[in-house]
Amino acid sequence: MTTAPAHDPTSPDARAYALDRAHVFHSWSAQGALDPMVIESGLGCHVWDHAGTRYLDFSSQLVNVNIGHQHPAVVAAIQEQAALLTTISPPTAHLARGEAAKRITDRAPDGMNKVFFTNGGADAIENAIRMARLHTGRDKVISRYRSYHGNTGSAIVATGDWRRVPNEFARGHVHAFGPYLYRSEFWATTPEEESERALTHLRRVIECEGPNGIAAVLLETIPGTAGVLMPPPGYLAGVRALCDVHGIVLILDEVMAGFGRTGEWFAFDGVDTDRGGVKPDLIAFAKGVNSGYVPVGGVVISDEIAADFDKTVFPGGLTYSGHPLAAASIVAALDAMESEGIVANAKRIGADVLGPGLRELADKHPIVGEVRGTGVFWAIELVADPATRAPVGAAVIGRAKKEMLARGLLPFAADNRIHAVPPCVVTDDEVAQALSIYDDVLTLLDEEL
Ligand code: PLP
Repeated sequence: MTTAPAHDPTSPDARAYALDRAHVFHSWSAQGALDPMVIESGLGCHVWDHAGTRYLDFSSQLVNVNIGHQHPAVVAAIQEQAALLTTISPPTAHLARGEAAKRITDRAPDGMNKVFFTNGGADAIENAIRMARLHTGRDKVISRYRSYHGNTGSAIVATGDWRRVPNEFARGHVHAFGPYLYRSEFWATTPEEESERALTHLRRVIECEGPNGIAAVLLETIPGTAGVLMPPPGYLAGVRALCDVHGIVLILDEVMAGFGRTGEWFAFDGVDTDRGGVKPDLIAFAKGVNSGYVPVGGVVISDEIAADFDKTVFPGGLTYSGHPLAAASIVAALDAMESEGIVANAKRIGADVLGPGLRELADKHPIVGEVRGTGVFWAIELVADPATRAPVGAAVIGRAKKEMLARGLLPFAADNRIHAVPPCVVTDDEVAQALSIYDDVLTLLDEEL
């Protein structure tokens, strides 16, 4: 299924493959090595190729299809909006745009009442950083190693993985280590120690960088592509407190974690609730807000920061900010997620079905070093040696992907991990199918250890 369809060269799948290889330049890839899958259609938690082969989508594509593929209400809303008005410039007031902004701010913490719409997640981060710099009059942004924030000027330099290094042209960025108990940078042995020591490290970085020069701390609430790194108790509340002491803006990147993925509207809604919760100053969102049916992202802005721009011009904008098709799709997606209990489903699946099932696999298979996550946001970390925790190499992950595809499961792989990230609408049966496929493939991989 991952090789070029060899039969009729004029068939749509052969043509899709040939056109792709001839003319499409792909993200983050050596182009010559690519062998893309051809996908024609989707519904719910499944996608199909042209030959009718069905795959259970446990990737949600790039962890964005939270509502599932082709939700009829969202498709209809886009069609209806397209029939009425496909585009209108940002300075105009437009009903769908206002309704979308209201639905987002209704779910945000009190005192966050404005939304700046962007085209996707990276430019949401870009504009959040801009707002923080203008608000504080400071320059530096502290973000984390082991993070991804997007592929534009500041967002890619804020990123804490290999993708930053060839793109390092923006100034004012500093990185710190965050908590990751399984591979602790702080010799910690408990979540509490990891939390406390990661906070001490961040405090020291802030002090050494000069708090008066730091505009923002930018964190994915739960780092996603870096491995679904669950924040230990008190970490994010502690970051909030550090920011408060030094007048630093806290930007939470909810691009991947937000809008249902963790079983909450925002991932931070489920964090440190016993400590009064964590309220950011700026929230970057994209992906799950409309499941990527139309490209969109944005920043939810605190009233205090928004007020800066009541009389002063905000020096930023986009031709497609608040695009009507995107706005209509947000309204329909959030309404359907609410009325169909989709966020609650993600929470229940994580707590009762997917989480326990993955933990059983971790107990059974020596190749699984750790599973961690919440809702429909999980990582299965594969290790070549359970004692040293040495990660498996690319060949093992390549084999895992191939074997899962051959069994009809579309996986999400990153570094030495498989992420179990189905749409939030996933059913108990679909989770059971996926767990059984993971089990089969992990058994094969165990044998090769
Ligand atoms: N922030 C996070 C946490 C992400 O996972 C991503 C994309 O994967 C981005 C930002 C960038 O979003 P986009 O690809 O829509 O620009």
